[in-house]
Amino acid sequence: MNTCLNCNATFAGRADKKYCSLACKNDFNYKNRRVTRNETAYIDRILHRNREILSTLMGASKKESFDRLVIARTGFRFDFFTGIYMNKEGKMYRLVYNYAWMEFSDQKILVVRK
Ligand SMILES: [Zn+2]
Repeated sequence: MNTCLNCNATFAGRADKKYCSLACKNDFNYKNRRVTRNETAYIDRILHRNREILSTLMGASKKESFDRLVIARTGFRFDFFTGIYMNKEGKMYRLVYNYAWMEFSDQKILVVRK
């Protein structure tokens, strides 16, 4: 006998069958997606906000340098990014979707739009 992952009912069938019915399968997957959504929403919001801040600062510009303080004042979270990119000179950029930024030693931040 199998045990349904959704309602714990026992049912007959192939040993690899996980749900007693299609309704239980759909219900289980729906609940699972909701958990994922709840647990990722906080970080998604920060990343989206970071991108909006860069977009606002950059306007139509493709490459711009800012004081770190100017960016920090907007509430930008430097510790949240979508990826890391190393250029040919070995400089590390942090990606925020279609933007990338790099920190210089003199408190300047270079932002590039992809
Ligand atoms: Zn079930």
